[in-house]
Amino acid sequence: MNQIIEYKNIGKSYQGKWVVRHCNLTINEGDFLCIVGTSGSGKTTLLKMINGLIVPDEGDITIFGTRVIDQDIISLRRKIGYAIQGDGLFPHMTVAENIGYVPRLEGAPKEEVDAIVERMLSLVGLPLDSKEKYPKELSGGQQQRVGIARAYANSPKILLMDEPFGAVDSITRYQLQEDLKHIHKQTDCTIVFITHDMHEAFKLGTHILVMHEGKIQQYGTTEEVKNHPSNDYVKQLVEMTR
Ligand code: ADP
Repeated sequence: MNQIIEYKNIGKSYQGKWVVRHCNLTINEGDFLCIVGTSGSGKTTLLKMINGLIVPDEGDITIFGTRVIDQDIISLRRKIGYAIQGDGLFPHMTVAENIGYVPRLEGAPKEEVDAIVERMLSLVGLPLDSKEKYPKELSGGQQQRVGIARAYANSPKILLMDEPFGAVDSITRYQLQEDLKHIHKQTDCTIVFITHDMHEAFKLGTHILVMHEGKIQQYGTTEEVKNHPSNDYVKQLVEMTR
């Protein structure tokens, strides 16, 4: 297994208060890591360190074997897909323009961008005729699918997802989870996915990271966390799914 992301004794503070501290974590290529924990436990802080949106005050984060602070941040971000809740689509761009945004920035010729857009639409189960539509003409679930397609359009090695399915109804959410599992199976992408929902984490994740008050409570395979919770906090979360 090749390691792709490594946190070494990571800490981040705001106004003198540590919001994450002493975090050590190795994520291997192809893992699907779900980060769970209460609001404010440091999940987003950890995630945003991967694409350099947040810089740690303590420790080092290494991606592809090189410290993030030693990398060209623009080129790093283009290798990392990022999808957030509420999709984050550009409202004035069509679906095709949204999905083709990063490949176009990378200088891909029009035919190649068109081919990518079509491949991505099929990957996330959207009809080809949605290409020329604007986000507001789509349902919430379809918009979220476009968000995933855009995040994945450049075939990134890493896909970051911050509660991407938080705002959709439960049926759509179920379908989006199935789509994402399919994408993960079909590709060698490493996914880091934040969720409040333990059912979702157990369904999707190969690995689970449980955060509480800025500290790692448990990090292990989904089976390990499910069958051997390391403390009462984790046990309580696991029991909620039974
Ligand atoms: P989570 O994703 O688990 O909800 P976050 O990582 O977003 O948690 O935040 C962790 C803590 O850091 C929270 O208490 C939050 O209020 C605080 N925090 C995050 N960003 C900032 C900021 N820019 N300034 C001050 N405090 C912040």
